[in-house]
Amino acid sequence: MTAANLVSAVSADGRIRTWRRGIIRSSSQIRRAQRVHAAVMNGGPLVGTVLAGYLAVTARVTVLDLVLLVLFYTLTIAGITVGFHRHFTHGAFKASPSVRVALAVLGSMAGQGPLLYWVGNHRRHHHYSDCPGDPHSPLFDEERKVGGLTGLWHAHIGWSFNHDLTNAAVYCKDLLRDPLIAKINKHYFLWVLIGVLLPALIGGAVTQSWYGALSGFLWGGLVRLFTSYHATNAINSITHAFGSRPFETREQSRNNLLLVLPTLGEGWHNNHHAFPTSAAFGLQPLQLDLGWMIIRALRAVSLVWDVRTPTQRQIAAWNPDHDPDTTSAPAPSTSAPGPEHSSLSIVPKPRT
Ligand SMILES: [Zn+2]
Ligand SMILES: [Zn+2]
Repeated sequence: MTAANLVSAVSADGRIRTWRRGIIRSSSQIRRAQRVHAAVMNGGPLVGTVLAGYLAVTARVTVLDLVLLVLFYTLTIAGITVGFHRHFTHGAFKASPSVRVALAVLGSMAGQGPLLYWVGNHRRHHHYSDCPGDPHSPLFDEERKVGGLTGLWHAHIGWSFNHDLTNAAVYCKDLLRDPLIAKINKHYFLWVLIGVLLPALIGGAVTQSWYGALSGFLWGGLVRLFTSYHATNAINSITHAFGSRPFETREQSRNNLLLVLPTLGEGWHNNHHAFPTSAAFGLQPLQLDLGWMIIRALRAVSLVWDVRTPTQRQIAAWNPDHDPDTTSAPAPSTSAPGPEHSSLSIVPKPRT
């Protein structure tokens, strides 16, 4: 812990209170709401997945069910990795308003929290990585040191039941200034609902049956929510514990090959911590990164531009003393600092 990250003030009752910059201590009421929300968002998809499995064994699972699962999984995980993560959190590329809206809506449909909540928590994760203040580290639960299975559980899912809040006014200033994004953020539950109703509608329309609608709801909705949620959360837990570390970064991030495909490239997590503002997470020719392929396709049709990637020389020259913000130097047309810089520059790094 460094004193630079702590703020103190005299409260109304005359006592001196200290807190971390950018973090709001959750009241017991907020923590109760977090428990209810996490129970519903974890329990609902889990129950749906068990039911879908039961029906697959006792009745049937159709090609349409699997198509809906893969289609909605890919679209919403792309919303998370290409949209919430690479674009909105790190400003790794610029995008047209229509692409921003599409990415914001698709990411919201993944049911991992509203855009500002997701981005704020993730910027906070980069700021306090594996230190007290990191919302989902396998090494710390708020100020308490954890590790082993307890740490993995906390980083994967435990934190969502009970955590201090990230101050959006500190971490998401750039997004708060965008009225359209703020509006999409506000209607988060509507997007989640559409995300589960749409596959039900398609299933019912194609099969002309209520069973088809139920099956579409289960496979394209709840099973998809369950699998995509745990794939993303595995980046918080598994890739901070198991895998290779080609870059000796300050935190414990790893590249984990098993998670590369299901997360569309997020499995290259050590690469990402070394070059956080890079639009590409796979940094070598054979490092498959479907999220990066999507960005390149969008760039080819001029829907995104100013795409930031490090040069091979910068990758080769990387060392742990480099500041990650400057290491991931932008492409020539993006010399101006991206949103990550502007939001994080106001709070000092936990380690120097
Ligand atoms: Zn990380
Ligand atoms: Zn990141």
